[in-house]
Amino acid sequence: MTKHDVVIIGAGPAGLAAAIYTGRARLNTVVLEKGLPGGQILITDWVENYPGFPDGIAPFDLIESFRKQVLKFGAVLASDAAKSIRPDGGGPDWIVQTVKAEYGARAVIVATGAQYRRLGLPNEGRLIGRGVSYCATCDGAFFRDREIAVVGGGDTALMEAHYLTNFASTVHIIHRRDRFRGTKILQERLFDCPKVKIHWDTVVEEIGGAENLESIALRNVKTQERITLPVEGLFVSIGMNPTNEAVKGLVETNDWGEIVVDTRMATNRPGIYAAGDVVCSTPHQVATAVGTGVHAAMSAGQYLSGYK
Ligand SMILES: Cc1cc2nc3c(=O)[nH]c(=O)nc-3n(C[C@H](O)[C@H](O)[C@H](O)COP(=O)(O)OP(=O)(O)OC[C@H]3O[C@@H](n4cnc5c(N)ncnc54)[C@H](O)[C@@H]3O)c2cc1C
Repeated sequence: MTKHDVVIIGAGPAGLAAAIYTGRARLNTVVLEKGLPGGQILITDWVENYPGFPDGIAPFDLIESFRKQVLKFGAVLASDAAKSIRPDGGGPDWIVQTVKAEYGARAVIVATGAQYRRLGLPNEGRLIGRGVSYCATCDGAFFRDREIAVVGGGDTALMEAHYLTNFASTVHIIHRRDRFRGTKILQERLFDCPKVKIHWDTVVEEIGGAENLESIALRNVKTQERITLPVEGLFVSIGMNPTNEAVKGLVETNDWGEIVVDTRMATNRPGIYAAGDVVCSTPHQVATAVGTGVHAAMSAGQYLSGYK
């Protein structure tokens, strides 16, 4: 078994940013990635809101720069999936069990990200970045003066819908029930906004479009009436699933399965830190994933400097 100062699980923006810092701090670091380095952001084709790139940047180019910087400072990228973490004997160390091997770690940073819940409809995946989106902050500005729809009824959906009224000509809110779950004040803002049209008791049944999203077909679940809306944007806001399988039962998670961390990105287990979309109370953005990754790395470094 190889022993490392830091094992980072996940090579999305959070894990790569953490590896730049731990590598540069001369901590022997390995980053485990079960897919391609880069994480969720690779699903889209343009990032406009990452600081430092006023004209935007292709996610692949952004991630490639991160990757080069990781390698420059000596961290190793390993193509492997973490399955679980267990204590190494009685000591403070940890063993990360992967599909291929075991990695000894004095500190672990969990940066396994999250996945947006999808509607599960044909064309949905194909039209991501071509009208279908899961993040108003990321993509709202692409829809100036366009007709768009938001699916969902919780706080996030209502906030996203309200934010989108800054850009879109019309925001349809599609909700499968006859009332929203989200906070009353958010509801009132939407009820008062002339740009917003609410479709109660309604589900999306079809997503249409060849190159880009062109329309969605809706069905009222009470009357069975069907209509088609000619929308160019569809924001699906029905929640996220944090990728927490490798640490399930080991570290504290909240009701949504997000890892609970303190202000230093520390979990309730000594030497185990977490960063990015997998942790509680973090905006799901590349910049914040990077920020929390850096914070976790610096906290792990401080922890290891006092390590016996
Ligand atoms: C379509 C889309 C568009 C977006 N657009 C923007 C945008 O314009 N601007 C913006 O700021 N943000 C955007 N985001 C959000 C942004 O991508 C995320 O907030 C960010 O990627 C989170 O980074 P992360 O490192 O925490 O997690 P992730 O990006 O999810 O990366 C986690 C990594 O961990 C790996 N992993 C998971 N489990 C394991 C395991 N057990 N073992 C090994 N590896 C594992 C995964 O394969 C993945 O590579 C967008 C997201 C999506 C889906």
